[in-house]
Amino acid sequence: MDSELDKFRWKTFGPLVDQGLIERGFMYALGQRNMFQPMPWVHIVPAVERRIRRKEWNDYIDDYIRDHAQKYGDYRSAEEIAIQCKISEDGDALYKKCGNPKCTQYSTDDVPFKRCSVCKITKYCSPECQKLDWNAHKGPCKRGEVKPYLLKTQQVMEDCINMMVPSQVSQETLKKAEQYGLIKN
Ligand SMILES: [Zn+2]
Ligand SMILES: [Zn+2]
Repeated sequence: MDSELDKFRWKTFGPLVDQGLIERGFMYALGQRNMFQPMPWVHIVPAVERRIRRKEWNDYIDDYIRDHAQKYGDYRSAEEIAIQCKISEDGDALYKKCGNPKCTQYSTDDVPFKRCSVCKITKYCSPECQKLDWNAHKGPCKRGEVKPYLLKTQQVMEDCINMMVPSQVSQETLKKAEQYGLIKN
């Protein structure tokens, strides 16, 4: 796909793809005809449409894994690429890691975990994991600071957009810009 929009995207995000901050598979899916930009859309897109979007997007990720990844020197397992690139019906990450940092279980649309009943975001594979994480979680949870499960690529793209909006350029944004190599000291 060689549209003007795609050229613009590669010009903007290409260096971050090379650094591994933005997934090549994500860029591949984004470059397909009429593709939408995945973002948490649970409240704005009807359920049927959300299911179609999930299928279309994740099918392109499967194409990438099967036909393109190795060509670009991306030798990670299919599972690892899927974790980094596939989206859920809600427009965020399909694979959501259990909220207990020491746990390695992932929730998906097909194997859903229960959510914290207070913030309704963080997911846990079991009541035991929720109990173990509560001390660390309760602060951000009660202050409403828990973020949705964005893919790392979605987070980096959001950060880049914030850098372009003057009112959003906080110390934290500047720190991220430096971290991504967009500002030289
Ligand atoms: Zn919570
Ligand atoms: Zn767990």
